[in-house]
Amino acid sequence: MKRTEIKDLLERADFGSKVNVKGWVRTKRGSKNVSFIALNDGSTIKNVQLVVEMSPAMEPLLEKIHTGAALSVTGDLTESMGSGQKVEVHATDIEILGVANPNDYPLQPKKHSLEFLREKAHLRYRTNTFSAIARIRHAMIFAIHKFFNDRGFYNIHSPIITGSDAEGAGEMFQVTTLDLNNIPKNEEGKADFQTDFFGKATNLTVSGQLEAELAALALSKVYTFGPTFRAENSNTTRHLAEFWMIEPEVAFCDINDDMDLAEDMLKYVIRYALDNCKDDLEFLSKRLLDEEKNKKADERSMELIEKLNFVLDNDFERITYTEAIQILRNSKPNKKKRFQFVIDGWGADLQSEHERYLVEKHFKKPVILTDYPKEIKAFYMKQNDDGKTVRAMDVLFPQIGEIIGGSQREEEYDKLATRMKEMDIPEESMWWYLETRKFGTVPHAGFGLGFERLILFLTGMGNIRDVIPFPRTPLNCEF
Ligand code: ATP
Ligand code: MN
Repeated sequence: MKRTEIKDLLERADFGSKVNVKGWVRTKRGSKNVSFIALNDGSTIKNVQLVVEMSPAMEPLLEKIHTGAALSVTGDLTESMGSGQKVEVHATDIEILGVANPNDYPLQPKKHSLEFLREKAHLRYRTNTFSAIARIRHAMIFAIHKFFNDRGFYNIHSPIITGSDAEGAGEMFQVTTLDLNNIPKNEEGKADFQTDFFGKATNLTVSGQLEAELAALALSKVYTFGPTFRAENSNTTRHLAEFWMIEPEVAFCDINDDMDLAEDMLKYVIRYALDNCKDDLEFLSKRLLDEEKNKKADERSMELIEKLNFVLDNDFERITYTEAIQILRNSKPNKKKRFQFVIDGWGADLQSEHERYLVEKHFKKPVILTDYPKEIKAFYMKQNDDGKTVRAMDVLFPQIGEIIGGSQREEEYDKLATRMKEMDIPEESMWWYLETRKFGTVPHAGFGLGFERLILFLTGMGNIRDVIPFPRTPLNCEF
């Protein structure tokens, strides 16, 4: 018999029909005469209730069914008398596809800590929390592609192995086939990469932007959506060593258009989640309330769905870095030295505590900061006439801090070349990038959205390790 997915089954009302469902047991309870099994197949966060009446044929089967077992169940679709569900299946035939021994199976029908589940990452998809996150991740991947496709952007595959280390010096993972126990040396006694696979030193990419720029200067509107790698040894709840990034790049576009695009995109995907991931968001909202029930009222986060709507309902506040520094210097936590990094002058890089203060306490809405000091930003950002600042724009969100980093790019050859010299970026490895400023250069801009930071925000989870299936962080690459 053809299988019906639980998501579809729960919508049906043709009571009396024979149906087949397949899935994994979440719970089994019952009495001598009747057992109730909650079955989940991942198509929805909801389980279907199976009602099994005890019989000589069923008894030995039921004894083998425990949380985690995989079943194929045929039965009659029945209107449910119980609360919480409209339909249930009265099982007439059960096949155990795979048993799960309760003495070994780590996921029991009780609450497990997120830390425990991180150590069971191979099984944690089977919990409500992680299956909800997986479905939301999928919906967001789809929504992002749809957003750009509907607006005439082309998706570009930028390379994962790169020969330039312009952006990530010191934070890159090297890619090599050299024998690390017997490294060939050149005359200077240094590793001889001429004998390496590519004939030069190579790394995993930290961003697809530079290549996206090349494409934008021909196709006008492009975006990348790929994995990026950063060997930064920052053990925070917002950093991964391997994460996914969305990087649109647009020709004939300045920093204001860039901010509009970022705001439109974030609002579009958040609305998409509200429209398409209702059950999962409601579950995650309850999870968050439960997790924070012992916190003081003023330390609790905003209710999840309210928070998402709140972003939709507000125009993002757009201010300059210089204005932000003014606000921060005069702020209470700065004066009382409650910030870990006290702001005492113009030029300091902002930490997430400052970003969150601006968003959560001062403006009480998402903020876009622009025109940062050139010293704390990348070489390719468009220089302002003041000689001090660049046309950068960072989007700051509640709970997360920086969710997007972007800029208008320097399109003038001389200015770019000079800045590269000042920052010791070797022209030999970047000649192809510079050439675009010689041949038909135009104003252009783009940004990078960290996909996992978006998912953190949407799910209300507190740790970025819980919104990617198999997190890579310092000293952690088990699964
Ligand atoms: P941060 O200051 O938070 O480390 P960044 O300035 O290094 O961020 P960018 O280089 O501008 O970030 O990267 C663009 C976006 O990628 C960021 O806005 C953020 O959303 C995301 N991002 C950056 N580093 C990481 C990381 N290690 N793990 C997950 N996401 C990241
Ligand atoms: Mn960083």
